[in-house]
Amino acid sequence: MEGHQALVGDVGWIEVICGSMFSGKTEELIRRLTRATIARQRVQVFKPAVDARFGKDVVSHSGQRTPSVEVASASEILGRLDESTKVVGVDEAQFLGLELVDVVEEIVSGGRRVVVAGLDQDYMGRPFEPIPQLMAIADSVTKTMAVCVVCGHPANKTQRLVEGEGRVLVGASEAYEARCRRCWSPDPAKAIPVEFEAAGTTGV
Ligand code: ADP
Ligand code: MG
Ligand code: ZN
Repeated sequence: MEGHQALVGDVGWIEVICGSMFSGKTEELIRRLTRATIARQRVQVFKPAVDARFGKDVVSHSGQRTPSVEVASASEILGRLDESTKVVGVDEAQFLGLELVDVVEEIVSGGRRVVVAGLDQDYMGRPFEPIPQLMAIADSVTKTMAVCVVCGHPANKTQRLVEGEGRVLVGASEAYEARCRRCWSPDPAKAIPVEFEAAGTTGV
């Protein structure tokens, strides 16, 4: 899709990168923003303050990182936007709520390119707004897939391992795993233990 940039120019352009946890959303976001920087376009990256796992940077599970601006709400992005910014990245967009849809529309109406990354489903497998709404209005949608830690198939679901929390529980490998549809359960108490299944599938 990057090839279209010269063509669309000031019309504005919305990209969505979505999938389960560990699927490479942040890596893909950083990859695209790095290319924009190489093209000498001014880039700004935003992330919700609720996700304080790695301090102020946007950091992937593989350790790639880029500096970002933390915001308490989606509308705060508008106030923090520099006039000269051409490309706007947003990571962990599922924490910014439906307000982000209007904010993205506003940014893109100024002719900017917006790249949004976030979870498409919550741990129950339910569409996680605002990602479904952003997918609908986007010019480009990329679904990234992780690897199922139980069986090795492509994984489209996020398995929660901790019981008794609400929809938002910020965490990484201690709280979540990537799993395929077959190995995943919306109920943490019913999650198949990884060691048991993995032992049965290794040794081939
Ligand atoms: P996301 O932003 O989607 O959570 P990241 O971009 O932060 O994902 O991290 C992706 C990286 O996580 C992969 O390149 C790989 O190094 C690592 N990783 C760890 N567990 C898995 C898994 N089960 N499937 C795929 N990648 C994984
Ligand atoms: Mg990420
Ligand atoms: Zn599986």
